[in-house]
Amino acid sequence: MKLQTKIHKGMLLLITVTLLISYSMFTYIIYRQTVNMSIHEVRQEAQYIKRLLASMGSGFLHAIDIGLFNTRISLINKAGNVLYDSNMNIDFENHLLRPEVQKALEGEIGEDIRISETFGTKMFYYAEMVDNNILRIAKKFDTVGLIALRILPVILSTACIMFIIAYILVKILVNKIIVPINQINLIHPLERKNYDEIMPLLVRIEKQNMEKEKIDTIRKEFSANVSHELKTPLTSISGYAELIKDGIVQKEDIESFAGRIYHEAQRLIVLIDKIMLLSKLDEEKLVLDKEEVDLYPLLLEICNRLNPFALEKNVHIELSGENIQISGFRYILDEMLYNLCENAIKYNKEHGTVKIWLGKVLTTNKIIIEDTGIGIDKQDQERIFERFYRADKSHNSKIGGSGLGLSIVKYATILHNIQIKLESEPEKGTKFILEF
Ligand code: ADP
Repeated sequence: MKLQTKIHKGMLLLITVTLLISYSMFTYIIYRQTVNMSIHEVRQEAQYIKRLLASMGSGFLHAIDIGLFNTRISLINKAGNVLYDSNMNIDFENHLLRPEVQKALEGEIGEDIRISETFGTKMFYYAEMVDNNILRIAKKFDTVGLIALRILPVILSTACIMFIIAYILVKILVNKIIVPINQINLIHPLERKNYDEIMPLLVRIEKQNMEKEKIDTIRKEFSANVSHELKTPLTSISGYAELIKDGIVQKEDIESFAGRIYHEAQRLIVLIDKIMLLSKLDEEKLVLDKEEVDLYPLLLEICNRLNPFALEKNVHIELSGENIQISGFRYILDEMLYNLCENAIKYNKEHGTVKIWLGKVLTTNKIIIEDTGIGIDKQDQERIFERFYRADKSHNSKIGGSGLGLSIVKYATILHNIQIKLESEPEKGTKFILEF
C-alpha cells in the first residue's frame, strides 16, 4: 500500500472518530442547555401570569392564546378539573393525579419532566396554587434525536472541509518527506543534510559502505598476497627440482635437497589449508554444528599434537587449570587454540616455556597462553591479526610462517564472542588472554 494512502486512511479514521465524539458531546450539551433554558423560561412565565391573574382575573388568559407555541397554560381546580387550557380543542381528563398538581395542592411549587400523555413529546411541567386554583404551565423541548438531527448538517460540512484539508495536507507532507529520501546518494548518504530522524539510518549506510570498501581492499590485498606467498615456496621447490633434474646435485646431497623440497611442500600445504579455511570463513561456507566443547581435553590433545614440535624447539609445555565447557564449533576452536599454542612454541627461545592455563575468574571463563619467547613490538601488536602480517620480518624469516594463523584466531573469537587480549614485551614473552 502506498504511504500516502496509509496516512490518508489514518487521517480519515482520526477525523471521523474526533467528529463522532464532538458530535455526541455537542448534542448532549445543547440538549442540556435547551432543557435548562425551558425550565428557566417556564418559571419566569409563571411569575408573569401569576401577577396578571391576580390583577386581571382569569379572563385575560383567552387573550394570550394566540402566539403560544411551545408553552401550554392550564388552570385546574382543586378537584383536578381543567377550567382553562390554552389547547382548548383537546378533551381533558382529570389532572388531579399529575405529580406537579399534587405538589401544588400541598402548597408547594410542583415541577416534573415527562412525556406528555396529551402531546406525546417530552415536556417540563410547573404548577403553583393561585387563588384556590392551580396554575400549570408546561413547555415542550426538543428531544436528543431532534437536536442531533439539527446539528448533523454542520457536522457533515465540517467533516467534508476537514477531509479536503487533510487530503491536501497529507499530499504536501508526503511529498516533502519522500522527495529528499529519493534524492539520497546511497554511496555517500551523508553528503547532504537530511531529517534528523533519518540521519541514524544514513550514518549506518555510510558505515556499511566504508566497511564494504575496507573488505574489498582487504580481499584485493589478500589475493595479491596469496599469489606472492604461494610463489615463494613453489619457486624454491622448482629450483631444487631443477638442480636435481640437471644432475648438478651430488648424489650424497640429493637426500638433503629432497628434504628441502619436502619442507617447502609441507609449508605450501599448511598455507593452502589456512587460505582455504579463511576463505570458507569469509564466505560463511563452513557447514558446522554447534556443540558443547570441553576445552581442557581439547587443549591437552593440542599439546600432544604439538609435543614433537616443542621437543624439536626445546620448549617445555605446561597445561593446568580446570574443565571449561563452551558451546561452539569444535573444528574452529581447535584451529584457534592450535594456532596460539603453536605460535607460543614457534616464537619461543631455546629452553623456553609455554604455560597454558584455563579456568574461571569470578564469573568469566579464561584461557591464558603465555610464553617466554621473543615478544612482539608495541607497533606490531595492533597489526599481527591482519592477514599475512608478520612482525619483525628479519627475525621471522628464519622461523617461517604464513601470517594467517592469528587472522583465523581473530575470526574464531568473533564467531564465539570471545574477547582476546594481548600483553607482550620484546625479548621477555607474550601472553594471549581469551575471555568468554
Ligand atoms: P605466522 O604464521 O607468521 O605465525 P600468525 O598470524 O600466527 O602468522 O602471527 C602473525 C605474527 O605475529 C607472527 O609472524 C609473529 O611475528 C607474531 N606472533 C604471533 N604470536 C606470537 C608470539 N607468541 N610471540 C611472538 N610473536 C608472535
